[in-house]
Amino acid sequence: MFRIGIGNDTHRLVAGRPLMLGGVPVDSERGGQGHSDADALLHAITDAVLGALCEGDLGVHFPDTDPQWKDARSIELLGRVAWLAHERGLHVVNVDATVTLERPKLRSYILSMREKIAAALTVDLACVSVKAKTNEGLDALGQGLAVSAQAVVLLES
Ligand code: MG
Repeated sequence: MFRIGIGNDTHRLVAGRPLMLGGVPVDSERGGQGHSDADALLHAITDAVLGALCEGDLGVHFPDTDPQWKDARSIELLGRVAWLAHERGLHVVNVDATVTLERPKLRSYILSMREKIAAALTVDLACVSVKAKTNEGLDALGQGLAVSAQAVVLLES
C-alpha cells in the first residue's frame, strides 16, 4: 500500500532570530519568526508525513499552546511523526521538497539539510531531495520578508 502526503509552510523573517532550515542553521541577518525554531522546511515535510497518514497537521500534534512544545526542535518533531508512521507499519519511500528564500543562496547547505532529514526519517540520503529557489524579487518572499517550503512524501507499507 502507498500513501502520499503534501505539506507547505511559511514563516516571516525578522531580525534577531536564527534562521533554521532542514535542521541546519543558515547564516542570515534574519530568521524565522514563530513557534519553536520556525523551520519552514521541516514543518512542510512533517505536515506531508502527517498528511500521508491522514493525521491532521503539526498544530494538532504539537500545539503551540502546550508548553511541552514551546521551544521544541523541529527535527525532533519530524522524528516523532516518522515514528508514528512506523507504528502504522509504513516507511518513507522518498521526500521531495522545495524551499523558497530570496537570500542567502542555500546551495552550500543543501547536503547538510538532506542528511539531517534522512537521519530523522531513518532513510538513505538518496531518498531525500531538497531544492532551493528564489522568488525573483516578487511578492513578500521575493522581498526577503518570508521563507516558504513545500514538500511531498511517499509512504509504503
Ligand atoms: Mg511553521
